[in-house]
Amino acid sequence: MSFKQPDLPYAMGALVPFLSEEQVNFHYGKHHAAYCAKLNSLVQGTPQSEMALEDLVVQAEGAVFNNAAQAWNHTFYWRCLTQPGHGGAPKGDFKAAIERSFHSIEAFKDEFSKAAVGIFGSGWAWLGMDNQGRLEILALSNADNPLRHGKRPLMTIDVLEHAYYIDYRNDRLRYVASFWDSVNWSFIEQLYSDGHDAAIGRNG
Ligand code: FE
Repeated sequence: MSFKQPDLPYAMGALVPFLSEEQVNFHYGKHHAAYCAKLNSLVQGTPQSEMALEDLVVQAEGAVFNNAAQAWNHTFYWRCLTQPGHGGAPKGDFKAAIERSFHSIEAFKDEFSKAAVGIFGSGWAWLGMDNQGRLEILALSNADNPLRHGKRPLMTIDVLEHAYYIDYRNDRLRYVASFWDSVNWSFIEQLYSDGHDAAIGRNG
């Protein structure tokens, strides 16, 4: 069995003007694809090739972990995005949870943006949920993922330079500022609601 890179949930050019077709083509078609190919070459013929990708993200070490997590993280990142201006806004219980944890949606965006911009070198900023249903922003280096820390990932932004260099050169601040218009809030809300039900189930 081998790990297959999932199709993008939209056309390569769907994220313009946040990300150009060329930027997405390189990021999805070269970098994300390379992590999947490398993972397959590393695990071929071993028991790890039969494991679920998410289990590799939690359990693997070294090069297998790096490539498994980068494969998972990128697929998740693409799903957190949608056509600019079409992602809606946080609402309902999810909006209330954001407001409880961060005071307001704007304060949450500000804190998440600061975490993303502040990551030294390569990494990912995440919104995660713990097993009590509490929300938290995580600024993680390289391929690291909230699943390694017992947290459920709800949202992410890739701040590896390859994510934005074609469109924004070295200007990570402008890339992160542009990101908000393309956030797929309904995807994130669904993850919040699934995670919250699971947390209540565990505690109830
Ligand atoms: Fe990337």
